Amino acid sequence: MTETKGKVVAVNGNMISVQFDGVVSLNEVGYVKVEDKNLKSEVIRIRGNTAQMQVYEMTKGIKSGSKVEFTGNLLTAELGPGLLGQVYDGLQNPLPILAEKAGYFLERGIYVEPLPYEKKWEFTPTVKAGDTVYRGDPIGTVPEGPFKHKILVPFDFFGTYKVKSVTKQGSYTVKDTMAVLVDEKGNEKKMSMSFSWPVKRAVDCYEERLEPTETMVTKTRSIDTFFPVARGGTYCIPGPFGAGKTVIQHTTSRNADVDIVIIAACGERAGEVVETIKEFPELTDPRTGRSLMERTIIICNTSSMPVASREASVYTSVTLAEYYRQMGLNVLLLADSTSRWAQALREMSGRLEEIPGEEAFPAYLESYIAAFYERAGQVRLRDGSKGSVTIGGTVSPAGGNFEEPVTQATLKVVGAFHGLSRERSDARKYPAIDPLDSWSKYNSVIKKDLVDYSRRVLRRGVEVGQMMKVVGEEGTSLEDFVTYLKSEFLDSVYLQQDSFDAVDMACSVERQNYDFRKVLLILGSDFVFESKDDARKFFNQLRQNFIDWNVAEWQGTAFKGKEKDIDSLYATKSGKLTAEAKALLKDGEK
Ligand code: ADP
Ligand code: MG
Repeated sequence: MTETKGKVVAVNGNMISVQFDGVVSLNEVGYVKVEDKNLKSEVIRIRGNTAQMQVYEMTKGIKSGSKVEFTGNLLTAELGPGLLGQVYDGLQNPLPILAEKAGYFLERGIYVEPLPYEKKWEFTPTVKAGDTVYRGDPIGTVPEGPFKHKILVPFDFFGTYKVKSVTKQGSYTVKDTMAVLVDEKGNEKKMSMSFSWPVKRAVDCYEERLEPTETMVTKTRSIDTFFPVARGGTYCIPGPFGAGKTVIQHTTSRNADVDIVIIAACGERAGEVVETIKEFPELTDPRTGRSLMERTIIICNTSSMPVASREASVYTSVTLAEYYRQMGLNVLLLADSTSRWAQALREMSGRLEEIPGEEAFPAYLESYIAAFYERAGQVRLRDGSKGSVTIGGTVSPAGGNFEEPVTQATLKVVGAFHGLSRERSDARKYPAIDPLDSWSKYNSVIKKDLVDYSRRVLRRGVEVGQMMKVVGEEGTSLEDFVTYLKSEFLDSVYLQQDSFDAVDMACSVERQNYDFRKVLLILGSDFVFESKDDARKFFNQLRQNFIDWNVAEWQGTAFKGKEKDIDSLYATKSGKLTAEAKALLKDGEK
């Protein structure tokens, strides 16, 4: 550990210039002394023997001459059992404990242990003396919430190790020695249940990165069927203020088919973040019936907290995600909102007087965003098991304009785009994912041909709708009018979903397949209508039946009753599948 010391020579917002004696490296952490407090800071640029540092705290009181102590360490996260259920700030301080000690968000320079050090965990070893282990391998397990938390060889134990001894079954704290390992040169190293890892360095202790091919089911129809997300994949949700970004993320975190959810509540207004913190512990996990918090970690940074720690919160959250992936678990990381993080980068870049890029964002914005999303992935571990980190980030572009740099940089790297439209959210068509603008490169839970067919009906119907605005209903043929009604029908009974209805909010893959075929039966059929009014009346009735069907328990009595209603209504207008649709549906059965 270095003992480098320095002193502040200039203060510019939350950036300080520090003259130092000795060795300082990029991204090293240092503490600025103000009165009796030590304020955490990170080196972001070095010129000669001047270091520019971003301070992770309010900088009040820092002045020319303030002393700085460098630590020789990078900004790290502490990894070990006890992370689940925590609400942290960007520097991994448990917020409830911080609040007890200091009052919410007020006191500076207080750092609390990230893990409960006094808590005892029931350890069961899975290796024995003489075994060979590598970084990221498990040596035992402890129960944590609903999981077997694997105790891993620290990620910075590079090389090959032989287990000299391993602690026997029993209860221990995270700092007790769990094993003694011997490296190739015969040096002994002790390991406990916890260790640190630099947050800006991707964890890479896996055998192989896999193509993200398995769908990460969210139980939101519009996503799984039309704009799916893969396990280990990436997606973004841009949308104007109030379009429903946060609601979608909450619904997804509750229903997604993953083991662990990590929420990086980043830079949004304090009120919204506090809502998240209050709301989550009250949510029940549909899988276990217990609190959702048991398998959730929240990293939270409000707009009233120092901007620099937004950056830290993004990296800390992805590091925790990678840690649990290393245990063979599927982790979903949701970042809300990445725009606030980008704004923090912009602010810092301005202070550093770097040459600005588009809209004054730094030129490296794109590569930072890309590097963040690249930390997603499904991997194969040494024991053959698979784990994944899926990343979904919201983007909140000013005025909802997707042409701005953060949205554009994000679109270049993600695998799916769920663009929220103001028009849809104003019409209360939720989720407001635009069905024509959005896209995904991943595999749907429904056969592609079937989805494509419905997409064509949708597109054609929207075109007719636009034309009708000009020529009116009278100027539209009955055939076109029916196409329009079909597309509206698809939207209102399938794309739209009530995230506040206990049944409708989560639609299983099995049910999506079943429902979608029924929707296709309607889209792919010819009907005999006397007039446009007749057609409109029919579709109104049909829509209501479908909406009732959606909120009925899967395969329950109400469900079966509604299905009968739908089928008999279909018969009243001599519904008959076209040859094309018939072939598609038949093929889709295989
Ligand atoms: P954003 O995060 O994009 O600013 P929110 O997710 O906070 O927007 O949503 C704003 C409001 O819109 C919510 O408080 C809620 O009233 C409404 N809303 C959003 N999504 C839905 C939904 N799926 N169902 C019903 N209401 C919704
Ligand atoms: Mg929001």
